[in-house]
Amino acid sequence: MSLNDHQYILYSKQMLLADVSEQGQLTLMKAEVTVVGVGGLGQLVAQYLAASGVGHVHLIDDDKVALSNLPRQLLFSANDIEVNKAQVAAKKLQQRNPDSQVSAHPTRLTSDNYQTLFNTISPQVIFDCSDNFATRQLINRIAVERHLPLFSAAISGDQGQWFAYLPESVLTKNPALNTKPHGCYHCVFPADSLLSQNCSQMGVLGPAVGIMASMQALAGMNHIIGRQVEFGVLHRFDAKRLSWSKATMAIDKHCCVCR
Ligand SMILES: [Zn+2]
Repeated sequence: MSLNDHQYILYSKQMLLADVSEQGQLTLMKAEVTVVGVGGLGQLVAQYLAASGVGHVHLIDDDKVALSNLPRQLLFSANDIEVNKAQVAAKKLQQRNPDSQVSAHPTRLTSDNYQTLFNTISPQVIFDCSDNFATRQLINRIAVERHLPLFSAAISGDQGQWFAYLPESVLTKNPALNTKPHGCYHCVFPADSLLSQNCSQMGVLGPAVGIMASMQALAGMNHIIGRQVEFGVLHRFDAKRLSWSKATMAIDKHCCVCR
């Protein structure tokens, strides 16, 4: 696999980074990723991944575009209202980014269907762009079971958070990743915690969603091209004060997902 003249110009700004270069671009073009949720977070993550030349992007969402999405879900327009988000996004991204294969899976990811779905795709990383606690827990479980690095973001009101999680099965096989074992999402937010409010019921400003999505897309891309990523740290963002704080994701020895 090598780049043609058009691709050399198209991706030149990425390749000008010394630790990316042509090799990093080719690595991106061979990568297969899954984005769960194509709302405020997912539609931006998917745009960055496809536009940067990521080889195969899977989009999973059963939701339809709604009028109230348009202020922050900039990939969608009024003409897309009532159409499935994964299908609209895949069509637009495919047209704009012919180097990337963009597949729509217009279904809601559930504990009943995820095995079948993930048996048909083979992503190397998973992006959690979902808007509810149950799906977030399920994606965390999939990451553990399928040995997938997980890049997760969420925002509710003015409180955003993102983290990168590397299952222990992956980090023991890849000492070069220089990562110590850390807690999974369920370790930090057990299923019985009170954090179950859906983001979809809360207000939010568009750029705040964009910040969280950009962090998660960037962390994922950094990992794919072989840059050191800080796994196991929960980054919190206050969208009113524009301030960040972070906390280590401690292992819960009794976690029923990752232990
Ligand atoms: Zn855990």
